[in-house]
Amino acid sequence: MSDQRAVRIGTESVTTAESLVVVSPFDGHEIGRVPRCGPEHVEAAIAAAKARLAEPLPPWRRAEILDAAAVAVAAHRDELATIIAEESAKPIRTARVEAERTVITFQSAAVEARTLVGEIVPVDGAQPGEGKLAFTLRVPRGVVAAISPFNFPLNLVAHKVAPAIAAGCPMVLKPASQTPFSAIRLSEILMDECGLPAGWLNVVTGSGGTVGDPLVEHPDIAAITFTGSPEVGWGIAAKAAEKHVGLELGNNAPVIIEPSGDWSTAAAKISVAGFSHAGQSCISTQRVYVHRDIVDRFTEALVPKVEALVVGDPLDEATDVSSLISPKETDRVRGWIDEAVAGGAKVLAGGELEGGVLRPTVLANVTPDMEVCRSEVFGPLVGIIAYDDFDDAVKQANDTRYGLQAAVFTADLDTALRASYELDFGGVLVNEVPTFRTDQMPYGGVRDSGNTKEGPHYAVREMTRERLVIIQR
Ligand code: NAP
Repeated sequence: MSDQRAVRIGTESVTTAESLVVVSPFDGHEIGRVPRCGPEHVEAAIAAAKARLAEPLPPWRRAEILDAAAVAVAAHRDELATIIAEESAKPIRTARVEAERTVITFQSAAVEARTLVGEIVPVDGAQPGEGKLAFTLRVPRGVVAAISPFNFPLNLVAHKVAPAIAAGCPMVLKPASQTPFSAIRLSEILMDECGLPAGWLNVVTGSGGTVGDPLVEHPDIAAITFTGSPEVGWGIAAKAAEKHVGLELGNNAPVIIEPSGDWSTAAAKISVAGFSHAGQSCISTQRVYVHRDIVDRFTEALVPKVEALVVGDPLDEATDVSSLISPKETDRVRGWIDEAVAGGAKVLAGGELEGGVLRPTVLANVTPDMEVCRSEVFGPLVGIIAYDDFDDAVKQANDTRYGLQAAVFTADLDTALRASYELDFGGVLVNEVPTFRTDQMPYGGVRDSGNTKEGPHYAVREMTRERLVIIQR
């Protein structure tokens, strides 16, 4: 199997008799082949990771490796961006941004490795604790299983791998089957160029259905970090009830645009935030609630910008929007557009295919019962909903099974504060789109958007546990 790319499990470069064939989402050509791992490979990967627990890396060494990773990813930026663009159809300029963000993710994790601390516990604040010194240590939970999605095939892998290294947890990584090459290349860079010893990062490729259960149900896995759909995520949590399970799941991000807000800036930002990577971001701006007094002017500002987006080959420097991850997904989103139109929505831009790529789509007259409003579109589409009253807009924005990030545009401090308290999401942004993220901030949602926070500072705390130490003076 000469054309199969090997994965690293312990000290071995592993290939399998059968391959997983990866094709371009844009034009269907074969990009390459990776191993089709089975339960025996999962077993070997977990054993290799577990063996590393006996030889822990000191925090300064973890920090050195993470610093080296930041430098190496920066040096490999263009190579990594091309891999991302090919396997996920992310336009190359956006793919470069993902590679650059990955540098920050590693830099932030290096800071955590250097500064991870417990706390002094004032046990002598109660009479029985008199004469005792107490503190907590943060210790690695053990072997971490990381399962990542297709939409940020490098940086969302880094959001699991980098904190695990900082926390001192060896890991087994299962990347999305559509996008394994970014993860495989990152693992090679970490081990060959950054000094990460073999066994700390073991990669198993193969379908979630085949390798998922043996991985998440294995007794030697202490913690699971998962990013992907709610259906798969909650299923994993149910199967691994006794483990620490962190879930980063879907969303249908709302933004409220008040008459006092800078609706022109909002339109410009949404023309990017709703369509970057064809809307396949968990915080893609999707539901746009615009006050009726400004809805026409806002729409007139937004639509030409969306129509001007360039659709095409992800490797073309001019491309703004390329294919969805599969023709099936394109069909699904088109079906949802048809359903919305049948229900009274109006297509203001897009809606049709151009060279197999769904054009960036703006719908007006969207109502809460439509799939494009109540579900996660995960496609290049924003829906405009006019409102009369701020309370009603907040109520509609909150009326969702998801809860990752939401936003408001307003010039009024009281409205901004009310939005901050009343929008029931993991993050609320004021005068910014809900799609905004930096890699060190706490990022995570409520309800079907998940149960944890990522960002190295927070993920390291998920991957470590506190051990209380009490010393009698
Ligand atoms: P997905 O279908 O849930 O897949 C995610 C990962 O889970 C893939 O590696 C997949 O492997 C694996 N998997 C599938 N079935 C499994 C099983 N039974 N056991 C264990 N693993 C299994 O999600 P996706 O389509 O790749 O990603 C899109 C979703 O991710 C969207 O809902 C999006 O909002 C969400 N997302 C959330 C965040 C966040 O931070 N909140 C960030 C990015 C994306 P295969 O590829 O082999 O099926």
